[in-house]
Amino acid sequence: MPFSPLRHVDSIFWKRKPVHVTFFVTKICNAACPFCFYIWREDGPAPGELTLPEIEKVADSLPNLLWLAFSGGEIFVRKDFPEIVETFYRKNKPVVMLFPTNGIMTERIVQTMRRLCQSCPDSRLVCKISLDGPPDYHDKMRVVKGCYDKAMKTYEGLAPLLEEFENFDLGVNTVLCAENQDLVDGFIDTIAATMPKITTHTVSLARGDMPSPELKNVQLEKYKAAVLKLEERVKSGKLPVYRFPGGKWKAAQDIVQRQLIFETAQQDKRLSNCYAGTLNLVIAANGDVHPCEEFSMHFGNVKDHGFDVSKVLQTEQAQRILADIKAWKCHCTHECFMMTNTLFNPRLIPKIAAEYLKLKPAPTVQATKAAR
Ligand code: SF4
Ligand code: SF4
Repeated sequence: MPFSPLRHVDSIFWKRKPVHVTFFVTKICNAACPFCFYIWREDGPAPGELTLPEIEKVADSLPNLLWLAFSGGEIFVRKDFPEIVETFYRKNKPVVMLFPTNGIMTERIVQTMRRLCQSCPDSRLVCKISLDGPPDYHDKMRVVKGCYDKAMKTYEGLAPLLEEFENFDLGVNTVLCAENQDLVDGFIDTIAATMPKITTHTVSLARGDMPSPELKNVQLEKYKAAVLKLEERVKSGKLPVYRFPGGKWKAAQDIVQRQLIFETAQQDKRLSNCYAGTLNLVIAANGDVHPCEEFSMHFGNVKDHGFDVSKVLQTEQAQRILADIKAWKCHCTHECFMMTNTLFNPRLIPKIAAEYLKLKPAPTVQATKAAR
């Protein structure tokens, strides 16, 4: 069972190796969102990106993975992106791979996802299109005229892959910030009405070190109302859950995770163990290794350690940061890390199980096809 999620169950009890890696493929993006914490805002190419042969060595040094999230920048602008994904597929057998995109480059995105569905048949591929609000708002925030329409075209191009490939999932993510907090309620309905084939819709809080930090001033009650609306839609069967095996468990974990995010933000303190740096790792486009997306916590760079991530983790600097994380010296609400922090926290498993029992059975791929 090389691609089974069950291979990673032992990490609930022993935090010995990373199960979840976020790889920032590039800093380049064809949009310029004011809430973006990662893109290269200078002219010319971003310096120092890892090359494909270097990425192969990095992948060699990582174990088999449960969850591999690609990030950026816009991941699809990198021309060797399919080869990068196929390298990780061969070497790390990820159960799930996540492909977030602004949806601007329709043709390239659809072609690439089609190729990857074929070349990575044993992984589950989840493509998530970013949409933040009605067209005018979305285009203004992404600073690209017609961005919303292009993203919708990408949805139309990708939706048929759901019929064709059982290992494909298609979703939407909405970044919630101060500017769209009053629009999000109606926008959830818009997505449901105009993108009926998606298998998930998530809302994430604007985060990180961004050029317009005032956008992070979200009224928490509005976040809570949005995530409760999504939760209600999942519980009533109006919004499906991921189609991959364990998709219903993932939906239950999402519910617990959102509650934890709300309470963490409300109390402004850490409320659970954080496994960043042990179960989670972030590898930046230039080879910097971090426990999470708090980039000030810097373990080292793979280029200085023979492209071997395990050697970076053994440095004194990395050990010092890991001790600080273990001592609860930081807190955040970042969804990706909250995911691992809920999925692998033995104390939270009963809560996830309770939510799981309230959900309708996950539809089989055959049932999903029949309903279309
Ligand atoms: S589309 Fe994504 S990567 Fe590009 S600027 Fe916006 S948030 Fe950043
Ligand atoms: S609590 Fe947040 S900031 Fe601190 S290590 Fe974990 S993920 Fe990073």
